[in-house]
Amino acid sequence: KGKGKKMAKSASKDVKQAAVLGAGIMGGGIAYQSAVKGTPTVMKDIRQDALQLGLDEASKILNKGMERGKVNAKTLSSTLNNIVPTLEYSTLKDADIIIEAVVENPKVKASVLQETEQTVSKDAILCSNTSTISINSLAANLQHPERFCGMHFFNPVHRMPLVEIIRGEKTSDDTIAAVVAYALKMGKTPIVVNDCPGFLVNRVLFPYFAGFSQLLLDGADFVAVDKVMEKVFGWPMGPAYLIDVVGLDTADHAAGVMADGIPERMQRISNDPVKSLYQADRLGQKNGKGFYNFG
Ligand code: NAD
Repeated sequence: KGKGKKMAKSASKDVKQAAVLGAGIMGGGIAYQSAVKGTPTVMKDIRQDALQLGLDEASKILNKGMERGKVNAKTLSSTLNNIVPTLEYSTLKDADIIIEAVVENPKVKASVLQETEQTVSKDAILCSNTSTISINSLAANLQHPERFCGMHFFNPVHRMPLVEIIRGEKTSDDTIAAVVAYALKMGKTPIVVNDCPGFLVNRVLFPYFAGFSQLLLDGADFVAVDKVMEKVFGWPMGPAYLIDVVGLDTADHAAGVMADGIPERMQRISNDPVKSLYQADRLGQKNGKGFYNFG
């Protein structure tokens, strides 16, 4: 009885202020999405130019929305006012939830999470947007692993509805309930999954990408494969285009993690065309050239 009462109380706890660590592709997108849904959101990075890029991206999305008549001037200004850029940890002290979205490096993430835990209030919730690092391994460095979980958004954050909420072994029910409530407040569709390599989506996606790479090594043409998957099979985009959106560096790194994590389902591919393109500095949409060239 007591537990039920506690759950109900904290599940209804509103996030009054949020914070995002990292103002890159994902951090900038998460800060925008939180802000546009009315939550004042601190956006922290270690570089002023990264903060500026995050703010510019938010302005770009809002201005496009205005052109299409989907955003009014009031929303534009309130959203931009809701994003508070900072280089200082001390600005995080009033945040109810902090979402870490810094580079995909376990050591950097561990030190950022530890430093954050020392700065924020004692009942703040900490999340990581990692795609490939185990939530339990990140939790191992924290004093309060019960208030920590994964919150995995997809790129581009403002358009992709799904958010995977990843429960670590020590994550409390209250934490999961509060993060689910916050994802809904952000207008997203949360699913709760256990910690495992690839969570849910990448366990489906990366064996598919591996199958695609093998098809190319068998002699298939990537444009033809994309056309089949898009125009005939009916998916919004084929694997080559999707890998360009994800980024060939990110896709190559994640493929290695998945091959290690679920070797019975996914082997490492020698001469993987994704790796060859990445090594030739074709990173996909982010640098204008991947499988395709982007103008
Ligand atoms: P990114 O390189 O675009 O951005 C990372 C940002 O973190 C940079 O602005 C960098 O300056 C900043 N940063 C580095 N160290 C920092 C620190 N100590 N404190 C604060 N900021 C710091 O990377 P991204 O693509 O946005 O990825 C971020 C995270 O999101 C990664 O964990 C990645 O796995 C995950 N993710 C990425 C995607 C994707 O499609 N790009 C999708 C889902 C999840």
